[in-house]
Amino acid sequence: PVVTRFAPSPTGFLHIGNARTGLFSWLYARHHGGKALLRIEDTDKARSTQEAIDVILEGLDWLGLEFDGEPVYQSERAERHAEVAHKLLEAGRAYKCFATTDELTAMREAQKAAKQPMRYDGRWRDRDPSEAPEGAPYTIRIKTPEGGETVIQDAVQGRVKVDNREIDDFILLRADGTPTYMLAVVVDDMDMGCTHIIRGDDHLNNAFRQIQVIDAMAGIEDGWERPVYAHVPLIHGNDGAKLSKRHGALGVRDYRDMGILPETLFNYLLRLGWGHGDQEEFTREEAIAAFDIDAVGKGPSRFDMKKLLNMNGHHIREADDARLARLTADLIGPQADVALLTEAMPVLKTRARDMNELAEGAAFLFKQRPLAMDDKAAALLDKEARARLSAISTRLHGETDWTIEALEANLKAYADELGLGLGKLAQPLRAALTGTTTSPGIFDVLVLLGREESLARIDAQAA
Ligand code: GLU
Repeated sequence: PVVTRFAPSPTGFLHIGNARTGLFSWLYARHHGGKALLRIEDTDKARSTQEAIDVILEGLDWLGLEFDGEPVYQSERAERHAEVAHKLLEAGRAYKCFATTDELTAMREAQKAAKQPMRYDGRWRDRDPSEAPEGAPYTIRIKTPEGGETVIQDAVQGRVKVDNREIDDFILLRADGTPTYMLAVVVDDMDMGCTHIIRGDDHLNNAFRQIQVIDAMAGIEDGWERPVYAHVPLIHGNDGAKLSKRHGALGVRDYRDMGILPETLFNYLLRLGWGHGDQEEFTREEAIAAFDIDAVGKGPSRFDMKKLLNMNGHHIREADDARLARLTADLIGPQADVALLTEAMPVLKTRARDMNELAEGAAFLFKQRPLAMDDKAAALLDKEARARLSAISTRLHGETDWTIEALEANLKAYADELGLGLGKLAQPLRAALTGTTTSPGIFDVLVLLGREESLARIDAQAA
């Protein structure tokens, strides 16, 4: 059975790149009927505040990524990490290193001066710990193979390998007894029974090291078997550089605040670097059915805000009106009426590309009289326009059938009388009714506002 995990570090926000690998891990497990686990890598105490953890949980929840079981908190597992280090030590697969910080700095500086790669030279690998001063602090380092190579058959990157001489005897347990990140990750992966590690390709180098721990532990404890790795390319910006702050928002929450629907971000992140024929739009179910890791591309994918917004417009039009109405009401405030918004939604949602735009377009429904006018609307309401509004008012006061058809016939007749196009007449009317120059069709506006409110708004501007 497939077991995947998503292992974010609480950094203060849920990075969309991480959310994407989280999505892939989740989808892979769901597609194969396996388990999708969540691990919070909260070993950096300064950064891992409850707030930073909540941002991640909330972001995943918003995206609809429900993980199996309770999240594993890495910081709670330090004892187990230390236990593995000590088991490796006892089995002779790791050793105590008594090198002091000064000594290691000097070593690195000498390597740098000699233009050699900077890596631990194994100076305590074959020494007897009794050579160290009594009670001297030590780290525990893994004994990595001296020759040969480590090969990974990566599900995305293909066959990748590294010469074992390039992998130094890295630290497992620090002098203060705390585990290193490299140790913690791999112990947790194995204890959680992960069969597939899907993560960013910035972790590919770590995989070669983590495998050393797995191979060494394989002879010591049951269940230590190399998982399948899938190192997914990172997201880049439109200019081809790795996605960063200067490209725009990075956090999942930022996209929510921009008015992106969760299903849009889900769909967009899915399609970023993964394809299934030429299908662009995926529901959650379709994504689960179609997703597999082998269709993830090797090249970096480019984040395209315009495409995301277009996709969002599409998802808004597909979304349930009552749900959109609730979301819109939250953005408008307490004066919003969900029932009216639901009724208006079919005409409101046709153009909006994000929820803020949608809320802005809906705001006219709940404006207080006298209506605040934007500059363009105010400019439209000159003397002539106000006189026409007065005539329109008279006609509409006499209108007994307040329907789109009847209202249209009524105003069409007036436009014909004036020898004007209906559009010309609609402009000042729209300004009077909405305080803006853009809105749904003018007859929709009249019907949504209702007879009484419409006439009051027209009369307030008529002269
Ligand atoms: N916590 C790591 C990160 O957020 C991921 C570790 C892993 O997936 O192995 O980058």
